[in-house]
Amino acid sequence: MNVVITEFEAKLENTRMILKNITQEFSPAVFASSLAAEDMVLTDLILREKLNIGIFSLETGRLHAETLGMLDKVKATYGTEIVLYKPEASAVDAYVVQHGLNAFYDSVDMRKECCRIRKVEPLNRALAGNKAWVTGQRRAQAATRTELAVQEDDVAHGMQKFNPLADWSEEDVWHYIRSNNVPYNPLHDKGYPSIGCEPCTRAIQPGEDVRAGRWWWENPESKECGLHVVDGKLVRINKQAEKIGNQ
Ligand code: SF4
Repeated sequence: MNVVITEFEAKLENTRMILKNITQEFSPAVFASSLAAEDMVLTDLILREKLNIGIFSLETGRLHAETLGMLDKVKATYGTEIVLYKPEASAVDAYVVQHGLNAFYDSVDMRKECCRIRKVEPLNRALAGNKAWVTGQRRAQAATRTELAVQEDDVAHGMQKFNPLADWSEEDVWHYIRSNNVPYNPLHDKGYPSIGCEPCTRAIQPGEDVRAGRWWWENPESKECGLHVVDGKLVRINKQAEKIGNQ
């Protein structure tokens, strides 16, 4: 793999410093893990260093078996259980009864409503009471993330949001995973660079954008919840929403 170690080590050290600073300046803090490759890097860094950052995952009820299997792998590797936040059963039932189990294929609005019930509301619960939260987002993941900052003021949640891997490349992520024997979702080896809920994620073909397998039936402009188009440009209107789009 074509990685310049000196640059990588500098990035890694910087990421470690960011995480330590979060524990010192922004406690209590939590890390929202989708159990994907980037999030396993952060999981490894947090748990190996025994950093005081809680780790949670949104169990939407529609995840792949492989993704759910990561929960056991994390426990077996680090002896730590990831805290799960699930959607309100009554809200899921109402959506399914009224619209159908897979109504998210019918319209962007139906998809966003499903994401609101299964991701946004549980995320809000998971973040409540914290001073900061951490994500595994990277600038190189999507055109909509090229200006992603390491630290953001998450006005919607009234806390700071940190993206310690913002400047990491995909090669950096896999270099770290392989160098440190970090467990990872086997779907990554089956053409899934980006993994979300099972019915909303497909494998991509060589040459396709890494996000092409997410909500593939929608226009690209619709794929990041919380983003809208102004004068032909995608504009971020809700900073927490990018993470939701990554789940
Ligand atoms: S990704 Fe799909 S299944 Fe998952 S919450 Fe969003 S619309 Fe629902």
